[in-house]
Amino acid sequence: MFEVKIFTLYPDLYPGPLMTGIYKKALESKIWDLKVINIRDYAADKHSSVDDTPFGGGSGMVLRPDVVASALDKNLQSNETTIYLSPKGKQFNQEVAKKLSKQKKLNLLCGHFEGIDQRLLETRNIQEYSIGDFVLSGGESAAFVMLDAIIRLLPGVLGNEKSIEEESFENGLLEYPQYTKPQIWEEKTVPDVLLSGDHAKIKDWRLSQSEAITRDRRPDLWQ
Ligand code: SAH
Repeated sequence: MFEVKIFTLYPDLYPGPLMTGIYKKALESKIWDLKVINIRDYAADKHSSVDDTPFGGGSGMVLRPDVVASALDKNLQSNETTIYLSPKGKQFNQEVAKKLSKQKKLNLLCGHFEGIDQRLLETRNIQEYSIGDFVLSGGESAAFVMLDAIIRLLPGVLGNEKSIEEESFENGLLEYPQYTKPQIWEEKTVPDVLLSGDHAKIKDWRLSQSEAITRDRRPDLWQ
């Protein structure tokens, strides 16, 4: 069982988009499990405050280290690592998704406001990952993105494991174009080779399409 724990100020958002088809089935068949921890439950003062103004001035609020630490410490063993979703983190990509899908546990910490006190990030086993070069209002939507990418890689989640081997980013290439019925739609037909039944030729065609698309759209990957 792949055990996911999410630390958030908005527990009601979960499981949200993770309750669609394949993931719901996988949750029911105990391939993965989700525990949602409300950071606010660990606030110590009578106003349940989780954030405060930044030392040194500036706009916005910062999540308090003591409150977040208490949430982590009371729910994790001391050797467990946690991923903090952060625009300052290392780039999350398919390779990282694969690596993380091989673990037994995944702990995700969602920030808000201007982020989290740096001392928390330094004193707990935190790795920072970003889902891209843009700024979100909170880590929750980023956590959904990461989980979506990771959970589909767990054995037994997708009906057809082969589909993983042929998708974008495998072999450093983007995927070839896909076609389905109807064979003629709005006067457009599908490429002849796909109707030929010649599997070697189809494989060659798909590879050359993948290469052309990658070269054109993602020169960084093509490199
Ligand atoms: N002041 C920060 C941004 C805070 S955004 C800065 O300039 O770096 C608020 C929260 O949204 C963050 O704590 C983080 O958890 C989440 N977040 C924002 N952008 C993100 C991204 N690209 N990837 C992952 N998480 C992100």
